[in-house]
Amino acid sequence: MHRLMRKVLLWFARNAWLRERLPKLPFMQRAVRRFMPGEEIGDALHAAVDLQVLGIGTLYTRLGENLTEASQAQAVTDHYLALLDRITAAEIDGEISVKPTQLGLDVDEDACFGHLRTLAAAAEAHGSYLWIDMEDSSYVDRTLDLYQRLRASQPRTGICLQAYLRRTAKDVERLLPLGPAIRLVKGAYDEPREVAFRSKKEVDANFLAIAVTLLRESRARQIRLGLGTHDVELVEQIASHAAAAGVTKDGFEVQMLYGIRAKEQRRLARSGYKVQTLIAYGAAWYPWYMRRLAERPANVLFALRQLLPG
Ligand SMILES: Cc1cc2nc3c(=O)[nH]c(=O)nc-3n(C[C@H](O)[C@H](O)[C@H](O)COP(=O)(O)OP(=O)(O)OC[C@H]3O[C@@H](n4cnc5c(N)ncnc54)[C@H](O)[C@@H]3O)c2cc1C
Repeated sequence: MHRLMRKVLLWFARNAWLRERLPKLPFMQRAVRRFMPGEEIGDALHAAVDLQVLGIGTLYTRLGENLTEASQAQAVTDHYLALLDRITAAEIDGEISVKPTQLGLDVDEDACFGHLRTLAAAAEAHGSYLWIDMEDSSYVDRTLDLYQRLRASQPRTGICLQAYLRRTAKDVERLLPLGPAIRLVKGAYDEPREVAFRSKKEVDANFLAIAVTLLRESRARQIRLGLGTHDVELVEQIASHAAAAGVTKDGFEVQMLYGIRAKEQRRLARSGYKVQTLIAYGAAWYPWYMRRLAERPANVLFALRQLLPG
């Protein structure tokens, strides 16, 4: 049942007809607020100030993907440059996280690389960091190529890898010589069984194995590791492997999404973990929100409750 709901919601995420209509419904607009403080940069920064007081750092993503015009990609780059200025001006400990297709990967790969390089240089100048999200499996090769090229000249850059993909352990081996920054996540797209593990057990086991490999290598190769998961039990399991390898709780980061397991985020920060919350904002939230519903179909009930008056 869960798997079927997930498949349906991920199909909703890709459907252009629904993308045009569902976000206009007031109950949907109310429901998405659970996962994003608002559509404007100011809403995201406001939430960040509250988190900073609790010792929680922030990552920012302006929602939007699969752009089809070169001019849109330039506008997104300009937006993130302005965001970096605002983060610095607000004295917030914040980093940015971008999707390659939001920077025009579907339009022109070299231009996309140029935007990434511009953003990485600006992030470095602001003492910040640029993370590259990972999209569906058809983008993995190109995204890894972009990261490899970028990392050669821009050290303050990281990439997201997905533990549900069968190939990821090999991709880690390829990236290790770069001394990379890796955000490991389980994976949010609808992938065929040939490319992705399907059961939670297999995905979790792969996540654990890759995280342990990265931790083992982390000191010798100066790897930065972010565990991008709300699976606190898995985080704690990884932390005990880390401790056995002599890596303390602050030797890696725990990255979670705004609005998900917020109490756990605070508890982990209080108990000595380095926690970062990714805050998404912007008007193009529909496919991203559908992926959040797919991760936990119980969230659909919450969304439907917004149909009720008052
Ligand atoms: C910082 C960050 C960046 C990410 N970047 C990417 C990316 O670039 N590419 C990509 O494919 N995926 C990305 N993801 C999403 C990721 O792949 C998973 O889909 C998502 O994190 C859910 O899996 P989980 O690891 O939390 O584990 P799960 O096993 O799915 O969940 C563990 C527990 O967390 C809670 N939980 C998880 N998801 C939700 C939710 N939506 N609503 C409410 N509770 C929830 C539940 O209590 C659940 O039992 C990112 C996730 C994070 C946290």
